[in-house]
Amino acid sequence: MVIAHVANYPALANRLQTSIDVMRTTHIENRRLFEMAAGRLKLESREHDHLHQCEVCQAVLYVFVNQPTINTSPIQSKKNDAA
Ligand SMILES: [Zn+2]
Repeated sequence: MVIAHVANYPALANRLQTSIDVMRTTHIENRRLFEMAAGRLKLESREHDHLHQCEVCQAVLYVFVNQPTINTSPIQSKKNDAA
């Protein structure tokens, strides 16, 4: 069993347990992460704690933060036709 092996490494076992705990908890709604990324919403403290532990929510937030559409500056799609 993999678990038996992991038990020999307390740090790893602890990390695995954390991952299991995170999986059991509900993820932060994508909409809330989006609003937070846009600076329109502050997460509740439990959501904040979850975000610190959860790689899934961190990844989602990362995507939203890097969305050019929610930044104030629009994409410069206009090209200068100097012909
Ligand atoms: Zn999450």
